[in-house]
Amino acid sequence: MNKKAFQFIMLYLTLLLNVDVYAYIYDDMPISYSNRIDTVNDKSVKLWESYLQSRPDSIYENPFWLDIDRNDRFSFDPARIWIFQNQEMLKTYKPMILSSEEVSPGLTMIKTLFINSSDTSKKVSPLALYRVYVQLKDSGYVLKSALQVETKSWESRKMNGLTFILSPLHKYTSSLARKSARFCDSLTALFDLPDIEDAKIYILTSKDELASILGFDYFIAPPFGLTYAEKDIVLTALNSEWHPHELAHLIFRSYSKTHRFFQEGVATWCGGSLGQSLLDLTMLLKKENEKRGQPLSFKNVLQAEQNESLAYYTYGALIFKEVFEQHGGRGVKNVLIEGENNNKSIEEIIANALGISVSDIDDFLQKSLYLFIKNNTINY
Ligand SMILES: [Zn+2]
Repeated sequence: MNKKAFQFIMLYLTLLLNVDVYAYIYDDMPISYSNRIDTVNDKSVKLWESYLQSRPDSIYENPFWLDIDRNDRFSFDPARIWIFQNQEMLKTYKPMILSSEEVSPGLTMIKTLFINSSDTSKKVSPLALYRVYVQLKDSGYVLKSALQVETKSWESRKMNGLTFILSPLHKYTSSLARKSARFCDSLTALFDLPDIEDAKIYILTSKDELASILGFDYFIAPPFGLTYAEKDIVLTALNSEWHPHELAHLIFRSYSKTHRFFQEGVATWCGGSLGQSLLDLTMLLKKENEKRGQPLSFKNVLQAEQNESLAYYTYGALIFKEVFEQHGGRGVKNVLIEGENNNKSIEEIIANALGISVSDIDDFLQKSLYLFIKNNTINY
């Protein structure tokens, strides 16, 4: 048994035996505290500290969380993809625990600021203000995500395999819910993918509300939509039951381990992005290219990722459109499977699927952009 596995088992055992919950395996995370925190006696804070030092960036059966968060809702902590993405991020944004207050019997709310402060420049950059709950359970304590606490009394409506969970500020529109259910049914049938039988779609009215139900009272860049693909959970901040881009992520959830370029490409091809159709996106990109003088090379777009998201999403969509026209649904799924394999470059996978050479990808993209706009607009 390797050292890590042994440590995880020990961690589990200490928790199960309730001997010393606070023995942990990664203890160099510098945590600071506001004056409000009783660092000696507050058991909830102790538990939160232990979790922060248990490598929250790695996926394992993290024993600090409530079973349902660990198994049914997230891979334990919804914040893993926001603030605990990797070790680098843990080192850059250090936690400062600000408050720990009992909000109802047996339930404590802890607020933590994740901040990067540089001694040399005196610059302070906050990443997030994160709220998490600690629940008393069987004479021990366990972490609980904000989602369950915040949305407990929210209304929900079911439409086929989709359950819409509604922000109290949102007005339910059944025709849009039906449109979403039909969209899911027709695409799963077209691509011969597993049916969506029990997905939860949270309808939020703003990006901040989306962040807030996951526990973020502040986040530097909250998204408009988010899909926890393996858990069949979608969150949309568009204040609408209709958010086809995120639904497409849900539909292709069995390929959630493929390269991000392909994930976003297939979702944008099927569902546009942020309420804009693929045609809107191609026209915007064309304008942007003209302003720039020349289009960004595919290589630059791949490297820039989020910073060039319009090109990143639109180029991916155009590639999938062409793959589908050449090879049908099977071809699309093949590209997604290939994208899971780290040994092949994205360029090689694309060139292979389109029957062109890697050096022709830039040309192909510019031609497709031009043709897509031409074929979909009148009097162009
Ligand atoms: Zn997306």
